[in-house]
Amino acid sequence: MSVAAGRRVTLSCPFCATLNRVDLARVDARPKCGQCGRPLLLDRPLAVTDQTFDRLIGDAEVPVFVDFYADWCGPCGTMTRFGVRGIPTLILFAHGAEVSRLTGAVPRAQIDALLAAERR
Ligand SMILES: [Zn+2]
Repeated sequence: MSVAAGRRVTLSCPFCATLNRVDLARVDARPKCGQCGRPLLLDRPLAVTDQTFDRLIGDAEVPVFVDFYADWCGPCGTMTRFGVRGIPTLILFAHGAEVSRLTGAVPRAQIDALLAAERR
């Protein structure tokens, strides 16, 4: 977590959907939702919606890695917006802008290499 020390992200509560600003230097303190008081579950992927995407990606002071997928459906608005043509598609955002992406089934090492390149 040293790379994230003092940096903040905005997360939606998985229980009540309230947006919470979280200092990543305090993740070990297990932050709770300011509205409902339940844990923010930072060890799991977070779902975003059309209504929360821009704020969650734009407010993040650390790169955000987004997995675009379908639960199963045809093209959705978000997929069209980012030109996603296949799933799974993984897109890395930094300061609200796309910096790299991977599409299709890729080995873990390829994902690790993409994330490591962003940390440099
Ligand atoms: Zn909540």
